[in-house]
Amino acid sequence: MFFPFSEVIELCWRYFSVTTVFSSSLLASAQRPEEVIQRYMEVVAGVPDEDCIICMDQLSNPSGYETPPTEEGGQSILPETVGKFIKCGHTLHMLCMLAMYNNGTKDGSLQCPSCKTIYGEKTGTQPKGKMEIYSIAQSLPGHPDCGTIQIIYSIPPGIQGPEHPNPGQLYTCRGFPRFCFLPDNDKGRKVLELLKVAWMRRLIFTVGTSSTTGEPDTVVWNGIHHKTEMMSNLSGHGYPDPNYLDNVLSELASQGVTEDCLKAPSSSSSS
Ligand code: NAD
Ligand code: ZN
Ligand code: ZN
Repeated sequence: MFFPFSEVIELCWRYFSVTTVFSSSLLASAQRPEEVIQRYMEVVAGVPDEDCIICMDQLSNPSGYETPPTEEGGQSILPETVGKFIKCGHTLHMLCMLAMYNNGTKDGSLQCPSCKTIYGEKTGTQPKGKMEIYSIAQSLPGHPDCGTIQIIYSIPPGIQGPEHPNPGQLYTCRGFPRFCFLPDNDKGRKVLELLKVAWMRRLIFTVGTSSTTGEPDTVVWNGIHHKTEMMSNLSGHGYPDPNYLDNVLSELASQGVTEDCLKAPSSSSSS
């Protein structure tokens, strides 16, 4: 049975909707940057004969970054301190890592610049918006045995925050609402759950320059691929694509969004 697209829309019913409004106070993490570094890195006593991957100088030389004064006026991380990540074991100047952290979104998470291991919960800079999920009876090409999950992302234009490339300036939103499709089978539903986590962590979109249109200060996809064509594949972002679910699972994992996030108590809320 084939339904023209407009009828399929009428046949779908809503079963999940999550709206997120991120206030900029959420970004001002309660944790001091030095504490974040010290949570995920330990000081090494014998300095290895290696270069720091951030400043490229030898670890036996001090970091070129200045130690920011602490609130108490003391110094917590010294230029000569070499640290080791607790899981992956990569070593670098702790002060270089602190400078890198202070340059980012300061969300309480760290990413090893060598191997990209994520410590804590990485969050992004996606503007406020709405993620809605619907069910469609029609099958996707390549997934004849199940129906379809439809995700609709709506993001209105707004003013860039301090985490964006040009704070205070407008950002535009092209092609919204954006409609995306997943097969409604076990693996597709798992991807959906992980996409909800990625949405709550502000990882699906970012503000930047569109590589398709060249437009700056606009809301763009952020490396977690979505299928935006349902019954064709004219753009390369449609079905069939037998590797899609595995590919998007590894893109989610590279942002720190894995099945483990579904087991842990989540900070997300739905309405
Ligand atoms: P971009 O051009 O900066 O590209 C970022 C990533 O998005 C790349 O990995 C790219 O492969 C992927 N991408 C590009 N076009 C896509 C598409 N149509 N569907 C899914 N993924 C796509 O990202 P962008 O500027 O956010 O999006 C690219 C273009 O697609 C924009 O012009 C946007 O307006 C358009 N778009 C339109 C709709 C619509 O419903 N009209 C939906 C999605 C995207
Ligand atoms: Zn360094
Ligand atoms: Zn590492």
